[in-house]
Amino acid sequence: MKALIELNRNYRQIELKKVKKPRIWKEKELLNGKTASAMVIVLRTKGCRWSHLSGCTVCGYFKETYDAGYEEIKKQIDEAYGKYEGEEIVKFFTSGSFLDAREVPRELQIYAIKKFSKAKKIVIESRPEFIKSLDELPGNIEVAMGLESANDRVLEYSINKGFRFKAWLKNAKLVKEYGKGLRVYILIKPPFLKEKEAIEDAINAAKKVADVADVISFNPTAIHGKTILEALWQRHLYRPPWLWSVVQVIKETKKFYDGMIKCDVVAGGMARGAHNCGKCDKKILRAIGEFNLKQDERVFDGMDCECREEWLDFLEMEEYMI
Ligand code: SF4
Ligand SMILES: [Zn+2]
Repeated sequence: MKALIELNRNYRQIELKKVKKPRIWKEKELLNGKTASAMVIVLRTKGCRWSHLSGCTVCGYFKETYDAGYEEIKKQIDEAYGKYEGEEIVKFFTSGSFLDAREVPRELQIYAIKKFSKAKKIVIESRPEFIKSLDELPGNIEVAMGLESANDRVLEYSINKGFRFKAWLKNAKLVKEYGKGLRVYILIKPPFLKEKEAIEDAINAAKKVADVADVISFNPTAIHGKTILEALWQRHLYRPPWLWSVVQVIKETKKFYDGMIKCDVVAGGMARGAHNCGKCDKKILRAIGEFNLKQDERVFDGMDCECREEWLDFLEMEEYMI
């Protein structure tokens, strides 16, 4: 494990291109049961503090960061505001933690939230260790907190997440005490897990957060460059999840969870993302997109393909593989 962590650290020493413009796009998302418009703003900051120390095995977001100072971040917020067209949801991502004052100075956190105060909901991302400072932020905020797995062994040895479930949960409850919303990211198929174990791990995590989460957001793995996950994938030691597995996780979670379930399949249908046989991928990805907006699992009814049998065999056979 030590060697893997060292490799992870080495990846983070690469020379980074300084992209000083925020990445911005618009999308649709469900808000109070209706389809709403959303604006996503990825601010370029110095990036995740954990990534500088060690970093998660699946995360290549450090490549989107640079040592941005106060004025540069303020400029990015202003630039984003110039593109704001009254979207009901605004999401601030930083490839790290919006609440970490070393990434986004506290004054600028408040500045950004106030600037977009017309939005009905502002989503920010943060690691659990920065939640205490949420207390000072005004507005209708939803905090997206990556949990990935509720199994401490998976958190430590598969993801190198840098916290345990208990610590995460304590801060998740704090978010609720501050009267803010909570979105929980759960990873589908961390490395070193068999496909079946990964399905069970994601459903188990959803069960453990069902009481505190307003939104559960499943993230099937996508192979980021310069990560341990990529090194495993290049050596044929890892395959991103089947889309059938993703559908199963969503359907099973829907049985016990009343909140909103979301699933963004990055690089879906491609070798670097969750995929099936190539023939049915588009159809399933479309259904997942439809599910995100309707929350109705019947969108998956009648979906079939010859690769479904192959997937079922794979789940069974993998049990006997070393
Ligand atoms: S996944 Fe999140 S916590 Fe982990 S290194 Fe990336 S940004 Fe940081
Ligand atoms: Zn297929």
